[in-house]
Amino acid sequence: MEKVCTRCKKSYPATTEYFRQDRSSESGLTGWCKPCLSEYGREYRRTHREEINASKRRSRALDPEATLEKERAYQRAYRERKRGE
Ligand SMILES: [Zn+2]
Repeated sequence: MEKVCTRCKKSYPATTEYFRQDRSSESGLTGWCKPCLSEYGREYRRTHREEINASKRRSRALDPEATLEKERAYQRAYRERKRGE
């Protein structure tokens, strides 16, 4: 079964290889294909960099320890991924 991405209008097999799982949708998959989702995520982070940083700063002020630990875990995971590539 093929599924058309509602963003780029390209057709992909309707599997989790091409779409992310979305339990709230009828098909169980997101309307956007994975390339669109990751492109959007990149774009979002780029255009909302200030907001993201500000909210990071805010949560750090509220709970410095937990935030630091979260960031460390994230960086660790990021490095692991890099190494695996
Ligand atoms: Zn797409």
